[in-house]
Amino acid sequence: MKILVTNDDGIFAQGLWILVKELKSIAQVIVVAPDREQSAIGTAVTLCQPLRIQRVKPMVPDVETYSVEGTPADSVILALGKLVKNKIDLVVSGINQGSNLGNDVLISGTVGAALQGYLRGFPALAISMGSVDSPYLDNAAKLAALLAKKIDANALPTNIFLNVNLPNLPLAKVKEIKITQLASESHTDTVEEGHHGKRTYYWLVRQKINKSTNKKTDIWAIEQGNISITPLHTNWLNKPSPAITDSLFSDFFRELQRWKAS
Ligand code: MN
Repeated sequence: MKILVTNDDGIFAQGLWILVKELKSIAQVIVVAPDREQSAIGTAVTLCQPLRIQRVKPMVPDVETYSVEGTPADSVILALGKLVKNKIDLVVSGINQGSNLGNDVLISGTVGAALQGYLRGFPALAISMGSVDSPYLDNAAKLAALLAKKIDANALPTNIFLNVNLPNLPLAKVKEIKITQLASESHTDTVEEGHHGKRTYYWLVRQKINKSTNKKTDIWAIEQGNISITPLHTNWLNKPSPAITDSLFSDFFRELQRWKAS
């Protein structure tokens, strides 16, 4: 089995290398990751400037490792399109140091990288730990290896990818693994204003994640001390009912014609 590992916390992040060390015990691993932290960059792709790749010394011995001057999504696209030329069985993104739950997956660089693998037809998973400085990253690494073995045995459907989150707890305190759906909640970002000389600047500040009251969601599962595995696909945004959209837009074209004629 050959696994591509990437992340959005950058090539030197602890979570990445704990993951690599564990996956290396069951598979051949190649690391292609951004040269710096890119958290909350989502699935952004660099189209307006060239991308540079550098082969770097791995922090776990004997792992082919490349640092990319680009986003997590760029890293996956470059890996699959050039560096390993599609000879990959699984894309794993993480271990992110901080959770990726609910609507936050839409801006997550960790999930954004896994999405690029999925969009190219590869099994993919994103894995995140509920704290920036968690002492339990090895639990997440072990879980990723177990999932990788299942995926290697074709035990998962091919039309989904997985968003995995672990609570920041010792394993003895984790209740169970819940298969969840995305919550509609996320963090709230607030704006803080500051002044530097004559200029005003702003910081976007993440507040604590909003609670979910729906017991089927990832936020609920983590809040209760469970591991959450959410199957994702690209129809993840709820479609409004056709009746509503029809009534909203049915007259638009006639209105446009009337506007042009007037
Ligand atoms: Mn991150």
